[in-house]
Amino acid sequence: MFLPASFTPLWSAPAASPPSGLWFVFEGGRLLTSATACQANALTVPQGDGPPVTVDGARCIGLLGELPCWAARAGVEAAPPGFTLEPLRRLFDRLPDELVAVAGRAAQVLEFDRTHRHCGACATPTQESDEGRARRCPACGEVYYPRLAPAMMVLVTRQGPGGRELLLACGTRSRAPVYSALAGFVEPSESLEDCVRREVEEEVGLQVCSLRYFGSQCWPFPHSLMVAFMAEYASGEIHCQEGEIVDAQWFPAGRLPALPHRLSVARRLIDHAVAEAEQ
Ligand SMILES: [Zn+2]
Repeated sequence: MFLPASFTPLWSAPAASPPSGLWFVFEGGRLLTSATACQANALTVPQGDGPPVTVDGARCIGLLGELPCWAARAGVEAAPPGFTLEPLRRLFDRLPDELVAVAGRAAQVLEFDRTHRHCGACATPTQESDEGRARRCPACGEVYYPRLAPAMMVLVTRQGPGGRELLLACGTRSRAPVYSALAGFVEPSESLEDCVRREVEEEVGLQVCSLRYFGSQCWPFPHSLMVAFMAEYASGEIHCQEGEIVDAQWFPAGRLPALPHRLSVARRLIDHAVAEAEQ
């Protein structure tokens, strides 16, 4: 998920900005969309003079073309007639990709506001700072910026008897039986490369070499920055980590199981490896 080129990120509204535009109103992790938002051909998130429900903590998060984009928390728990409240991930195939990406930014900004209302050092209520980019404690001066959690993803491949093979795993947290690349959060003092080697060893008991950077992507569930790598198998036998990995296997590039959604960096990584294998 990538912000479109026509999007200008902002932290507060331009002067005299009207409340009209695109409203990304969340209740918990659910986004309010109009019933017509299921047609992925138009800017169909609630639009008009203002949001369709009472909201808290509204703030402008940028411009899509000339259109202000607003993030806010819903003041209601149930969607009004003609609207639905659904987790953002369930809207992946029903909203235009560009709106999914802007909604991801809205979700992250709202999550930052929600979790930084008080100073973590002295518990004093924080105030908006740095034109909306940060929150500052007026008592002790601590400054908080939106939290981003760097996570690595790695697709391990090897040369099998019939061609290139991909190591894909099914995690205990995956809701559908989907096989994906390995992933994990970076720990204090680690480099991304250290993290790749540690996670592969922990999750499947293998050693890897020849790391290649592939790309990165924001993953707003709730605030990950996924950094993806390719790696070559070096040694070891697959041993799945209990409690983390249900199954991990070598799959021939031409015969893959159910894969993650096309908007995920995991899927782009897998598709890239398959294309390389077919060359
Ligand atoms: Zn403080």
